[in-house]
Amino acid sequence: MDAEDLADRVRNGDVRLHELEQHADADVAAEARRLLVAAETGADLDAVGAYTFDAADADPNVENMLGAAQVPMGVVGPVRIDGGAVEGSKYLPMATTEGALVASVNRGCAALRAADGATARVLKNAMTRAPVFRVGDVGEAGEVASWVRANAERLAEAAESTTSHGRLRDVTPYVVGDSVFLRFAYDTKDAMGMNMATIATEAACDIVESETPAELVALSGNLCSDKKPAAINSVEGRGRTVAADVELPREVVEGYFDTTPEAIVEANTRKNLVGSAKAGSLGFNAHAANTVAAAFLATGQDVAQVVEGANAITTADVRGDDLYASLTLASLEVGTVGGGTKLPTQAESLDVVGVRGGGDPAGSNADALAEVIAAAALGGELSLLGALASDNLASAHEELGR
Ligand code: NAP
Repeated sequence: MDAEDLADRVRNGDVRLHELEQHADADVAAEARRLLVAAETGADLDAVGAYTFDAADADPNVENMLGAAQVPMGVVGPVRIDGGAVEGSKYLPMATTEGALVASVNRGCAALRAADGATARVLKNAMTRAPVFRVGDVGEAGEVASWVRANAERLAEAAESTTSHGRLRDVTPYVVGDSVFLRFAYDTKDAMGMNMATIATEAACDIVESETPAELVALSGNLCSDKKPAAINSVEGRGRTVAADVELPREVVEGYFDTTPEAIVEANTRKNLVGSAKAGSLGFNAHAANTVAAAFLATGQDVAQVVEGANAITTADVRGDDLYASLTLASLEVGTVGGGTKLPTQAESLDVVGVRGGGDPAGSNADALAEVIAAAALGGELSLLGALASDNLASAHEELGR
């Protein structure tokens, strides 16, 4: 059946829009959807339909496929990184529609290069899922919390029976009246791990329900906390907690940013620290989310988790004659397997970083990706702070972004 016939069957009410793949291959089904949507809305969907991969390959990633959203991709680097998982010079692809962003991050990366590169480390790796249970009263809540603390190994055994890679690191009870939340934290190796953690947690919840009076209300009780601004992720971390830092000689600061270490330190203190505190922000940085979002889009991460990726603190100090700067991202949720990472353009981007698929040892590729993103985002912080300190932010955007 061709796309026109399929579209007619939808119009006649014989087939529903989401059932098209049951009657044709995925590319024809998507074409039929474009015909229907174009006819109803008047939109020309030629560009949406001009994608390069087999629609069937996007099967677990999207439903009701219409085509693909194509976002321009630039590249920054190379930056030499002395990391825990990454060593050597790395490029980072960035997909964005924000003019001046790639140029700005790249300028920061050039400064890092001139300073012999950045140091980066993954400090923690813990993807979380926090189900909420109903109990009778706070007495029962206390009993359940104690039982969980005493039986963490049993819960780990149940959780880990569902995965050959995931490991339960920790389960922490939180009580609010007659609600008990259990925040499970997993080492998910090279996977971002949200599906893995959810499936594993469900198995652990079965044990909690069978052994205690707690009744599961929701497998996710929002104390996880996924895709919502939340202080718990800033404090405890979620996914990778990763930091990058650098010491930039004064002449590098002057040469690349047309300003001084002192001016960058003052801009960082008044803007990123004092301004963010006054705003009640969870992100004490200039624009870390810009690098995180563009890298996430390019490499097939779950872009809604940029919310957590923005939980980052930038520090800057004068050390002797030089500028010391660091960026610590508390909750960078990245993977090199699973999710959107296997889609063709995203997989090619992971190849650029040298981290496609599972690492050896498992987890090392996702650690390396986190370190590269952290180093590039540090470059982005320095570049924007430099632009603000030298008072040329507006002119750079006028020149590059409009
Ligand atoms: P996934 O694609 O569901 O699973 C990845 C699987 O890859 C792992 O479970 C693991 O299988 C396997 N694997 C192979 N080599 C591995 C290695 N080296 N390291 C780790 N795992 C390896 O991916 P996910 O990361 O768990 O979840 C990401 C997806 O979840 C994204 O599509 C995201 O959009 C979505 N998401 C889901 C939720 C939710 O609540 N479920 C919330 C937010 C986002 P084994 O486990 O068998 O070892």
